[in-house]
Amino acid sequence: MAVQLVRTVQEFRAACDALRGEGLRVGLVPTMGALHAGHRALMEHARELGTAVTVTLFVNPTQFGPNEDFSKYPRQLEADLALCEAAGVRLVFAPDASEMYPAGETTRVRVDGLTAGLCGASRPGHFEGVTTIVTKLFAVTGPCIAVFGRKDYQQFKVLERMARDLLLPVTVVGHPTVREADGLALSSRNVFLAPDERTRALALARGLSRASQLHAAGERHTARLRACVEAALSESAITSDYISLTDPDSLEACPADGLVGERVLLALAARVGSTRLIDNSVLGQEPAPLTLGAA
Ligand code: AMP
Repeated sequence: MAVQLVRTVQEFRAACDALRGEGLRVGLVPTMGALHAGHRALMEHARELGTAVTVTLFVNPTQFGPNEDFSKYPRQLEADLALCEAAGVRLVFAPDASEMYPAGETTRVRVDGLTAGLCGASRPGHFEGVTTIVTKLFAVTGPCIAVFGRKDYQQFKVLERMARDLLLPVTVVGHPTVREADGLALSSRNVFLAPDERTRALALARGLSRASQLHAAGERHTARLRACVEAALSESAITSDYISLTDPDSLEACPADGLVGERVLLALAARVGSTRLIDNSVLGQEPAPLTLGAA
């Protein structure tokens, strides 16, 4: 079945209603486009959950800070539609900004607590933009199963909480991070990496993997786990924006000179050249991003 492209809120709402009218459950994969195999895995997961899959393509202006890459974020509608079609997606919603933010709008959605640290601390206003647009997308889609990547772990946790707190008729599901064969987490922003930056960027997965290996061997000191990631980044001349060890559910920071638990989120953001990349691993729960030789 060919994928159907709709551009307006009214059309997308009617099309989702029609799918439910056929007795189908609706799956929703919100994206900013520039789709890759990570996004495709979310679509396939939504299909495996037995849903009629819908995908949204919208580069959401309110989640970008004034000095961030909104205007240069990659946009490639034709290629995105082809990927959706190949993944068996039923419906793609690609609205204009004026459709999602009607003239004169003043409403924002904010989740407290979970948004305080990590990317919330380094990108003021970012999560308010995310929770506002995703609330709108949920409102237009109606009852659905929404699949998000754990690559954006904090975002996934924030949206899970938001759906619960606001009693939205949406089940939020997380999907593991999809990586290149060499361990680099797939990201639409990887196209900005020059060849040498692409090589250096592997330090993110390497650092997480070394820390994962240490944790598996019994290391529980926050500072030592952190230092091993810092070392991996500095070997590749990368400065971190943050390297944080937090509780995987509350996202509360582990004491800086104390101990981490059996399950701990290790999340980091770093700039490689002018490109900001993020990555994470839940130590004690997920396999390390890379299989390393003996350290
Ligand atoms: P974006 O790339 O910001 O448009 O993200 C759209 C959705 O795809 C979000 O739920 C992301 O977490 C998810 N996503 C992006 N990259 C990956 C990846 N490498 N693995 C899994 N999910 C991803």
